[in-house]
Amino acid sequence: MPMFVVDIHRANLFGSPLARIDAITLARYTSHIYEGCEYGCNYCDGWGRHLRPFNEQIRLMPEIANVAMSELATIHRSAVIGLTAESDAYQPAEQLYHRTRSVLRVLADCGQPTVIMTKSQHVVDDIELLTQIHQHSFAMVMVTIISHMPEVQSKLEDKNVATIERLATVTRLKKAGIPVGVVIQPLIPHLNDTDYAFMRLVEMIVAAGADFVHWDYVNVLNQRHRNRLFEALARIGNYPPRYMSTLYHEGKTIDRPYEKERNLALTRICDDAKLPVHPPYSLFAKRLDPRDELELVISHQVRRDRLQNRDLSVSIGEMLATHIAAGAFSVQELRNYAHFLQIRPAVLHMEASIR
Ligand code: SF4
Repeated sequence: MPMFVVDIHRANLFGSPLARIDAITLARYTSHIYEGCEYGCNYCDGWGRHLRPFNEQIRLMPEIANVAMSELATIHRSAVIGLTAESDAYQPAEQLYHRTRSVLRVLADCGQPTVIMTKSQHVVDDIELLTQIHQHSFAMVMVTIISHMPEVQSKLEDKNVATIERLATVTRLKKAGIPVGVVIQPLIPHLNDTDYAFMRLVEMIVAAGADFVHWDYVNVLNQRHRNRLFEALARIGNYPPRYMSTLYHEGKTIDRPYEKERNLALTRICDDAKLPVHPPYSLFAKRLDPRDELELVISHQVRRDRLQNRDLSVSIGEMLATHIAAGAFSVQELRNYAHFLQIRPAVLHMEASIR
C-alpha cells in the first residue's frame, strides 16, 4: 500500500469530450480514478510531471460514484469512457478502496461503453461488470506489457506482476468474451524494439489470444525524467553515455528516421503473425455511434499508413477523420478516399443509420 492516502475533491471525473476520439483506446473521454500511482514504473512520465515522488501518495475521491453518476447524465450514451490516463485503475489501493469498481457499477448501470488500460491481473475481479457493459454496448481491456524477458520487466516495473501473468489475464478476458488488446508501452530503443525481442513478445501475445496490439516509444518529458530513465536502463545493460542524446537529441520524442525504420519492421512482424496493429472494426461494429465508428476506422487506417510511412495517405486520412469529427463531410469525399474499400462497412452502417 502507498505511504499516504488522502482524499481529494475533484470538480469532475470524466472531464470534457475530446475533439477527436482517441484512436487506440476508442475513448471520447479519458479519465483516471486515482491520482498518483503506487506502481511507480521507472519509465513512467508521471515522474516527469510531478515534483514529489509519484508513487508515494495516492489521492482518491470519496464521493466518486456520485460524481460519475451526475456527469454521466450529460454524456452521450454511446461515448466511450476510457479509464486509461495518468494512473493504473487497478493499482494496489483498489484492493482496499474499490473506487474503480464503484465507478464501473455506475457505468454498467448506464450501459456506457468503457475501456480500461491496466497492468494488473485484478481487472478480472470485475469481469462480471465488464460483461454486463459489453452485453449492453461495448467494453474492452488493454493490458500493458513491456518485455518477454523477466529480468528486463522486473528492473523497470518491479511492483507489477510478471508478463506471463498479464498474458494469463488477456486469456481470461478473452475467454469471457471481452475484447482485449495488448499495449507494448513504452518501446525503448535497442531494448524491446529489436526484431528478436518484439517477435518473441508477439508470439506470446498471439498465443494468449489478444485481439490486437499497439506500441509507442517512450517520450522524455524533461531532464529529470531523462536521468531517471537512463539510470534504470544502466541497471539492465551498458548503455553508452550518448545513448539518449543520439536517439532523442534534445527533444521529447525519438529520432524520427529511427522510429520510421523500426515501425516498418515491427508492423511486418505483426502482419506475419496475423496480429492486427489496431482494434479491428469487428470488435466495435454496431456498438458505438455510427459516425464515431467511421471516424475510428479512418483513424485506424491512418495508423497503418503512418506505421508504413505512407505520408500522403496519412495527411488525407487525418483530414477526412477531422471532417467527420466536425460533422462536415460528404459521401463523395468518403468514396474518393483511397482506402474506401476498407472503411466501406462503417460507411454503409452510417448511411443505414440516417435513412
Ligand atoms: S502503472 Fe502506468 S501510470 Fe502507474 S506508474 Fe506504471 S506506467 Fe505509470
